[in-house]
Amino acid sequence: MAITDLPSDWSFWVHLPDREEGPDVVDASWQIEMKQSIVFAQEEFSFLSPLQVVAHVSWADQSVMVQIELETTLSVPCVRCLELTDIALQTHFMYLYSLRDSVTSEREQESDEHLVLVDALENKLNITPQVWESLILSLPTNPLCREDCKGLCPVCGASLNDGDCGCNRETRDPRLADLLKIKKEDLEA
Ligand SMILES: [Zn+2]
Ligand SMILES: [Zn+2]
Repeated sequence: MAITDLPSDWSFWVHLPDREEGPDVVDASWQIEMKQSIVFAQEEFSFLSPLQVVAHVSWADQSVMVQIELETTLSVPCVRCLELTDIALQTHFMYLYSLRDSVTSEREQESDEHLVLVDALENKLNITPQVWESLILSLPTNPLCREDCKGLCPVCGASLNDGDCGCNRETRDPRLADLLKIKKEDLEA
């Protein structure tokens, strides 16, 4: 079973630091067992280790700044040879939660953090959609088992990483063959 959208049982809430006293930054962390894989951009990502989520919460003027850190290990088929490939994912995203009414157009144009408009900033804040978004945004779009993966033979389907299968893969289209020849000469030059 694979999921394509925010899991319904996900719930990430953070406490806001006290503005008058107490620490400036409040940390929260979770460890999530991901039993289901995620299908995104036609790739299926399975989890080899729990998803670690850490949030650092602080005030920035009238807004709340949340840094979301994610760490896990994923398994995904290489886009060229389909071999399952492990990917160590480690990423962080910055979100700025501002009251809907208080945001000036100027602030909205700042681009170094993702702006989230909220109706209230009380003592707790729901960051669940942003944890999901951070995870999705950090999934590799063209996962490869290695930089120079040779892919599959279009004739017999064997992995060309294991050596040449001996098939004749020469193109029959002479125009394309000429193009490939020019390209090859370019590379060799
Ligand atoms: Zn590959
Ligand atoms: Zn072949």
